[in-house]
Amino acid sequence: MKFEQILAASGFSDQDLTGGSLDVHTPIDGSKIAALQTHTADDVHDAIEASKAAFATWRKVPAPRRGELVRLLGEELRNEKENLGRLVTLECGKIVQEGLGEVQEMIDICDFAVGLSRQLYGLTIASERPGHAMRETWHPMGVCGVISAFNFPVAVWSWNTALALVCGNPVIWKPSEKTPLTALACKRIFERAVARFGDAPDNLLQVLIGERAVGETLVASRDVAIVSATGSTRMGNAVGIKVAERFGRSILELGGNNAMIVSDSADLEMAVRAIVFSAVGTAGQRCTSLRRLIAHEAIYDVLMPRLREAYANLPVGNPLDDGVLIGPLIDAQSGAAMGAALDQAKSAGGTVHGGELRLTEQYPDAVYANPAIVEMPGQSDIVKHETFAPILYVMKYKSLNEAIHLQNDVPQGLSSCIFTTDIREAEEFLSDVGSDCGIANVNIGPSGAEIGGAFGGEKETGGGRESGSDAWKAYMRRQTNTVNYSRELPLAQGIKFEI
Ligand code: NAD
Repeated sequence: MKFEQILAASGFSDQDLTGGSLDVHTPIDGSKIAALQTHTADDVHDAIEASKAAFATWRKVPAPRRGELVRLLGEELRNEKENLGRLVTLECGKIVQEGLGEVQEMIDICDFAVGLSRQLYGLTIASERPGHAMRETWHPMGVCGVISAFNFPVAVWSWNTALALVCGNPVIWKPSEKTPLTALACKRIFERAVARFGDAPDNLLQVLIGERAVGETLVASRDVAIVSATGSTRMGNAVGIKVAERFGRSILELGGNNAMIVSDSADLEMAVRAIVFSAVGTAGQRCTSLRRLIAHEAIYDVLMPRLREAYANLPVGNPLDDGVLIGPLIDAQSGAAMGAALDQAKSAGGTVHGGELRLTEQYPDAVYANPAIVEMPGQSDIVKHETFAPILYVMKYKSLNEAIHLQNDVPQGLSSCIFTTDIREAEEFLSDVGSDCGIANVNIGPSGAEIGGAFGGEKETGGGRESGSDAWKAYMRRQTNTVNYSRELPLAQGIKFEI
């Protein structure tokens, strides 16, 4: 399918794609596919005002009715799955199956949020005073700003938006400057759902196109009650501090440096498949990509040749083509970061297998690379750093304690896993003294989470939780209510205060 056809299928005309100052390139061949108009600081302020007006109406709509809008959004996404999935591939370079999988995640979170719209439950609490009732209620928060990264250009928006909407909040979305087209396509899909819904207020969703400065203006506004920001630790550090300065609420979803421990009791067939999928899928550009393999010394010499064999046959190429499993890196900067990381690993005593650039003649303006495996003598600085590329560092361990220590001894805390058939090892890994990550799995790789669980991680990953479980609570204001239905006024803590 030609690039123009993919763009046209998502409703983009030539006029939409020309005349602006933000150049959009496809990582498939590096060519320019759009020059979009960007928003100014004034536009950001106008959007916030419009969003406040939408909030004033939307918060009064009963939550199950708000859920109906999200149900319609889910239907529209089902209709558009193929077109949006391919647009994701065109704009961020993941293979079509992964593009479609990303849209499926959007559909799944819509379904989840529809059910949730009838389950925004609070507690009833036993009061210590006679004739009193206590309860906890949940209320809409206000404008929800969503800042997203290039590598999950649409799913992260939907995780936030489906929840924010049923919780009664309008959304202002600042997508990555590398993937604005998918955001504009989502806005169009959303507008179709709004039209079918009938009486939603205007501006429930606004999309702001631009670079970092647009995000900075959004983040600085006291009128943005929630800032959900997904991206690098550097970005999260700036955003987290800014939002905290004004006592706003942030949900931070930042970098990961995810590990797998392969024990001497592991099913190695399963482990190899899980390693390959989670280390090279999306060309190593998932926040949950496997970056560190901690292998027991007794199976190391069996595991390594099998892994290298699996890596030798990986199809790298145009992500729109059937049979390709590894597409391009997002841009030249990313390719340079991969090369620099491999050099640094070599200087630290690592042995690099793979990592060569590919298809340089066919696609001189794009970056394709063979995934790399790097055998490391220890967990040096470069291993502790998230390089957003398909590099898998491999280290040996002797005892489970040592393996868990290595797994936790990095600044990030997103996803982790152990391959073992020993229940004691599995339970210890999941226990209070095991993995310190937000996600910890047994006999499953670290990537590809389901939407039903809360998603996010600790330490430099930012501490935020999105998606399933009770992540919705971050999008609402909790209120404790005490009602006195007696004719007395007893004070709490037994205090006597006679007047
Ligand atoms: P990035 O940090 O460069 O950009 C992310 C977004 O933040 C963009 O929209 C950008 O314009 C905006 N931004 C940057 N600085 C800002 C600032 N000071 N104020 C406001 N907005 C600002 O990240 P990227 O390269 O697009 O994405 C890759 C990173 O995202 C990786 O580190 C990856 O691990 C992380 N990521 C994390 C998760 C998660 O859920 N934990 C999910 C996807 C990606």
